[in-house]
Amino acid sequence: MKEAARQARSESRVIGLVPTMGALHAGHLSLIKRAKRECSPVIASIFVNPKQFGPNEDFSKYPRAFDSDSEKLQRAGVDALFAPEPREIYPDGYSTYVNVDGLSDRLEGSSRPGHFRGVTTVVMKLLQIVQPNFAYFGRKDAQQSRLVTQMARDLNLDTEIVVCPPVREPDGLALSSRNVYLNADERKAATVLYRALEAAKSELAAGVRDALQLQAVIQRTLGAERHARVDYAEIVDAESFEPIVRVSKPCYVLLAVFIGKTRLIDNLYLEPKSPDSEELVFHF
Ligand code: AMP
Repeated sequence: MKEAARQARSESRVIGLVPTMGALHAGHLSLIKRAKRECSPVIASIFVNPKQFGPNEDFSKYPRAFDSDSEKLQRAGVDALFAPEPREIYPDGYSTYVNVDGLSDRLEGSSRPGHFRGVTTVVMKLLQIVQPNFAYFGRKDAQQSRLVTQMARDLNLDTEIVVCPPVREPDGLALSSRNVYLNADERKAATVLYRALEAAKSELAAGVRDALQLQAVIQRTLGAERHARVDYAEIVDAESFEPIVRVSKPCYVLLAVFIGKTRLIDNLYLEPKSPDSEELVFHF
């Protein structure tokens, strides 16, 4: 992979990298489409990163679909697929980690200790191996894309991090490789995340700015779904990911909800239409 990337760099080509854990869906393919518009070659990686899974999480049962993934990537016009084995990425004696302090400890980081340290470490390694001009991430994982952007800035990386909007099913459910865990009842129930974000949007559109009031509406929507158990539902500043009291700056409504045994996350990004405007723009 390093040799191929070095070759592309020596020809002054613009390299795009799309890191994934495989079990590819239209969300992943949207990142590839965007990368194809801006880069050549486009390199996709598939690596189910053991270091970002907790001991009681789903590393061993995480969906793996290498053959159909590589077909999808070929059809999408990806120039190269990098799919290393865990032992190549973490050989015996591996001992270097990258951690973004503070930001890594909240929300997803607090629910999944060590998760983001695993994410930033593997992303740093992928960026070192490929040294792309652009790397593409999904805003569906809002905190992750924020962390990777922070890491690239803090460590003076030559890669620009591009954050792309989430792709959803027609009923609003954000596409995720983990959606395959849901049975038919749970699949129906899983729309409750989107419904809760919609409920928050309605309140905001009606002028509500108080975070507690918004949270109450979100909790009521989530609480009405018997398959749902809330991990967190927070309204946070889009830069710091610290909870806010009143919506006035760009922020996220962030949800992490168990549907049965499957933990799903989703978010709504919102920002004032212009710096002094009371009017908000919503990005699902
Ligand atoms: P994953 O394979 O789940 O690690 O995801 C790989 C990349 O795809 C990450 O940058 C994710 O944020 C992004 N991604 C996952 N789901 C979606 C989606 N529904 N829409 C857009 N991007 C997504």
